[in-house]
Amino acid sequence: PPVIVERAEGHYVVDVHNRRYLDAISSLWVTTLGHRVPELDAALAEQLEKVAHTTMLGNGSRAVIELAEALAPRVPLDGAHFMFASDGAAAVEQALKIAFQYWSNTGEPARARYLGFGGAYHGDTVGSLSLGAGGFGAELFDPLRFPVLRAPGFDDADCLETAAKLVHDHAGELAAVVVEPLVQGAAGMHTAPPQDFGRLQDACDATGVLLICDEVATGFGRTGTLFASEQCGLRPDLMCLGKGISGGYLPMSVTAANHRVYDAFLGEDLGKRTFYHGHSYGGNALAAAVALRHLQLIDEKDVLVNVGERSQQLAGALVDRIEPLVAVKETRLRGLMCGVELHGAPGERRGRRVSAAATQRGVLLRSLGDVVVIMPPLTVTADEIELIVETLRAAIEEVIVA
Ligand code: PMP
Repeated sequence: PPVIVERAEGHYVVDVHNRRYLDAISSLWVTTLGHRVPELDAALAEQLEKVAHTTMLGNGSRAVIELAEALAPRVPLDGAHFMFASDGAAAVEQALKIAFQYWSNTGEPARARYLGFGGAYHGDTVGSLSLGAGGFGAELFDPLRFPVLRAPGFDDADCLETAAKLVHDHAGELAAVVVEPLVQGAAGMHTAPPQDFGRLQDACDATGVLLICDEVATGFGRTGTLFASEQCGLRPDLMCLGKGISGGYLPMSVTAANHRVYDAFLGEDLGKRTFYHGHSYGGNALAAAVALRHLQLIDEKDVLVNVGERSQQLAGALVDRIEPLVAVKETRLRGLMCGVELHGAPGERRGRRVSAAATQRGVLLRSLGDVVVIMPPLTVTADEIELIVETLRAAIEEVIVA
């Protein structure tokens, strides 16, 4: 049965029957510092006394400008500019359209296709679904999904080398390559070695093909650095952020563009170069105020240090107590982004049942097929990591009888 949440306390959610669950999936990967963080609550209340929302279409707002100014030096883009939206998928759609129009604006409209990766997931809207590799019921929408060139997924050791070759071979027709740096999340937490991404960057640099990094899942400290692109040595032309941007408080996402891309849209007011795109709630002031305070708190609370320490602890516990279980095929971990892959058994829905058993025991987990995802808040404590591992171990032993 679904957990119906009534309230939350720190890293725990409390349901309508007053049962407490450790939120080990960070409410679908969005919660970074836990729930009801006093500083974020205060930032929200303070902004509420000024204004909740005004349109960014042709106008601006102090809260959003202050957030953009704080983000610009932190994102791995040269001369970052921002376009805000509400969901990760919308940030991806914006990036796809911006990349497409970039080549129209710069006089090379034949560069109009995209390169994606096997296993990729970028959201549920039609454009982001097209870039995604499928699964999760996407096939039904195949007639609507536009074709993309596709490199192998991160479960193939040569994927980035192949992608770089595809960029070279198809440069004349490619607008952009879209990649989830370091970890393909929804694919089941598949990881690629950070040093391999240099090949892709080099191919984009050599050919001019735009590099779009989708850090909706990996951004804001999840993999141990503020952005996973930093570990991979990537400097994208466009970057998509969402989920953790507001600490998990309010729907907010953003597409960041570097100066190369931004400059291609400068021109007369409402002219041919204008990017005609916008969402009603893009640049919500309440979300922006929370996001700004959240960015400061990541530093003030040394959150990245905790991610590193808890990740190490989790890595050790996985090796000692989860990997030896016969039901477990593999574990994958980067920062606090973790997948425990179970040996599949057709029709048994093992991932789902193990997650349900863990939830019954008070640790909220959710699976992607046979992969049980562990995505605790970035401020998770050592005791809570211990609780997650022990609960998962017990749940696997309960559900899967060897
Ligand atoms: N990109 C990636 C890498 C994601 O993991 C997700 C969501 N899991 C999205 C995009 C879509 O974000 P949203 O659900 O906010 O639309």
